[in-house]
Amino acid sequence: MQIEIVSIGNEVLSGRTLDTNFAFLARALERVSVQVAWHTTVADSSERIAEALARALERADGVVMTGGLGPTPDDLTRKAVAAALGRHLQLDEGVLEHVRARAKRTGRKLPASFESQALLPRGAEVWINRHGTAPGVLLEHEGKPVILLPGIPQEMEALADEYVVPCLQKRSGRSVEAFTLRTAGVYETMLQERIGALPQGWPGATLAYLPSYFGVDLRVTVAGDDPAQVREVTGRAYAELKAIVRPVLYAEGERTMHEAVGEALLAKGWRLATAESCTGGLLAKRITDVPGASRWFERGFVTYSNAAKVELLGVEPAALAADGAVSAAVAEQMARGARERAQVEVAVAVTGIAGPGGGSDEKPVGTVFIAVASPGGAAARRYAFAGTRHVVRERSVQTALDLVRRRVLDLALDPKLE
Ligand code: ATP
Ligand code: MG
Repeated sequence: MQIEIVSIGNEVLSGRTLDTNFAFLARALERVSVQVAWHTTVADSSERIAEALARALERADGVVMTGGLGPTPDDLTRKAVAAALGRHLQLDEGVLEHVRARAKRTGRKLPASFESQALLPRGAEVWINRHGTAPGVLLEHEGKPVILLPGIPQEMEALADEYVVPCLQKRSGRSVEAFTLRTAGVYETMLQERIGALPQGWPGATLAYLPSYFGVDLRVTVAGDDPAQVREVTGRAYAELKAIVRPVLYAEGERTMHEAVGEALLAKGWRLATAESCTGGLLAKRITDVPGASRWFERGFVTYSNAAKVELLGVEPAALAADGAVSAAVAEQMARGARERAQVEVAVAVTGIAGPGGGSDEKPVGTVFIAVASPGGAAARRYAFAGTRHVVRERSVQTALDLVRRRVLDLALDPKLE
């Protein structure tokens, strides 16, 4: 089954609005193994919408259109699609009631034009929009589904998850299962080398390597016609892949490194403090992105200057003079100082050269020292991160979090595949 997605809107065609609707839909459908084979973007024009629909129906097995379902005169999708499919518009009482009830609830007086959203092509199956007024619409045309969705991303995404994805997956008749293993601290090439041809033993499976500055995610999707076989292959793939990546695995599915760190600290009853130079508070920000972080995060020091490192963390001026602020000795003293002054079990410190300036032959841009201090002592590691200032800082944060996680869980500090 091959799908075409049609994005409708002048603002999308001009590039002023990024087409996140397409990205969301394509990704959601990929997860359930429904193939998106074409993507078209057209203006708010009845002629263009009709043209796009006709072409999509010629080549695709189903069409999903987003945008132009609103009540304003530039919202033409309902009318254009009804005309193109040779159907009348018909008032849907349920939708009309929904539009009126929403207007009442928000206390706003909606113009009468809003009720035009209840005018739908005859024979439409209606998917009520809980985040707005314009419903999602499913039409059958010569055995092919034609789906209309509102343009507002929040509304479109909710309808896509609730209705579009299950509907198209069911029609494709395929059974799909997937899982994601998230790794940090190893290159994609190392993983590839170690995993090798293993996926060839998993019929119907695809393994995607998804690298980012958070690490490399391994996503396995298994699709097939026989649900029992899909389940069996997925279970085997999961066990085999996990056995290989276990030493560098920090989370599964959508879970993040900062969530994993919080969980590890909570389980052990430890509290954390941070001491940051080149990341300027980004590490503390990531830790406190997790709701409830006060249960494991005590405080963060942002010590950008040498004076701050001395005053707030007790770093020895002699160490700064001898080794420089970007050094293993200073990172270690920062971590020890943060741990003592915050009176916590574990502290992590980051000092480095994020660039673009400030590098030298000995310590080029991207050189970052990260240290952890815990009851077992302090240890620092040197890293060479590639990328822009932004990327170097993000990689530093991710690596610092992984060091904390490893220390708290009593794992070796240096990630290595066996
Ligand atoms: P409305 O009721 O607001 O008129 P609509 O279904 O008619 O909704 P549009 O008018 O096309 O949708 O777009 C509404 C909003 O959604 C606009 O702010 C637009 O920028 C945004 N939008 C539309 N299409 C997309 C898209 N493909 N990706 C991301 N945002 C989009
Ligand atoms: Mg609109």
